[in-house]
Amino acid sequence: MEKKILQWSAVSSGILTVFICISLYYLPSVNNHAGFWLRLIGKEIEIEIEEGTVEAEEEQLYIELPENFDGKNITIKNDYLTQTIYVKFAQAIENYSEDYSVKGGSNHIANMSYYTEGEAGVLAIRLDKVCEISYLYKDGNLCVKLIDPHDIYDKIIVVDAGHGGRMPGAVKRGIYEKTINLGIVKQIKAVFDEAGDKSLKVYYTRLDDTNPSLAERTNLSNYVDADLFISIHNNASNSGLFNNQHGTLILYSADDEGELNSRRFAEICMDNITETAGSVNLGLADGDDLYVVRYNNVPAILIEVGYMTNTTELNNLTNPEYQRKVAEGIYNAVMQAYEEGY
Ligand SMILES: [Zn+2]
Repeated sequence: MEKKILQWSAVSSGILTVFICISLYYLPSVNNHAGFWLRLIGKEIEIEIEEGTVEAEEEQLYIELPENFDGKNITIKNDYLTQTIYVKFAQAIENYSEDYSVKGGSNHIANMSYYTEGEAGVLAIRLDKVCEISYLYKDGNLCVKLIDPHDIYDKIIVVDAGHGGRMPGAVKRGIYEKTINLGIVKQIKAVFDEAGDKSLKVYYTRLDDTNPSLAERTNLSNYVDADLFISIHNNASNSGLFNNQHGTLILYSADDEGELNSRRFAEICMDNITETAGSVNLGLADGDDLYVVRYNNVPAILIEVGYMTNTTELNNLTNPEYQRKVAEGIYNAVMQAYEEGY
């Protein structure tokens, strides 16, 4: 009895292995970026831009569309974090690379590819920098214009909520640091949005519970050539135990020796946050050990807003009103930095 079961399980696990191998071969990638849903991604086919009459400097693409495709069944997403423009067709298009062309010119396209994603077809246009886009449907084409964000905005900053997704950061009393960081960043967004300055743009590394890589967070700032980069984190005592230690600490890049440097911006932030939020000033520290500070080409700081291992401060940090005061301090700091010439 036992022997027979063993034989049968050997045979069936063999069949299963063969089945899995075949499946893996025919399904090049299974991806769950969408969250709970597993989406089957088809093979990526590289798309070349057909040399057209458009000069590269015009930064214009003409994406030929099959009949019956227009704004009703096409969605366009400009993913700043990965510098990729996704043109998503509601239904996959057969032989896209052979039957349709992309014409135009641009100096900023790293590569283009077409793949299926479940029912849909996706044209992914990967850029070598962050671009804004404008587009329209005309004469059977989707015309996309790539625009340098600096041609639209006078001031550009990047705000980063530390950790996210499966990386919670510090965890105290069941509260995740990633959640506090995001709460503060959402308040920062509210303050900047309410100010309504159309000449200022804030790019956020995340506004939900995702976990961009450290390189993606830093690249967003470098590839948009931001004026300032601010990462929001929260602290915990070395032992991890609750104690009296509390206050705001700001890390800066000591390697940044420009006149309008990371250290001066950290100082401005400290003055403004301690003023609006009333937190204790724990001073500035060299943050060149931190990836997002070290590899940023722009004045970058990382703010440890408060200590999650202090009961009073943990209560403050989870309170939206306190988060709002911190956000107002950061807004005031950014305004002061621009006044000083950043
Ligand atoms: Zn952290």
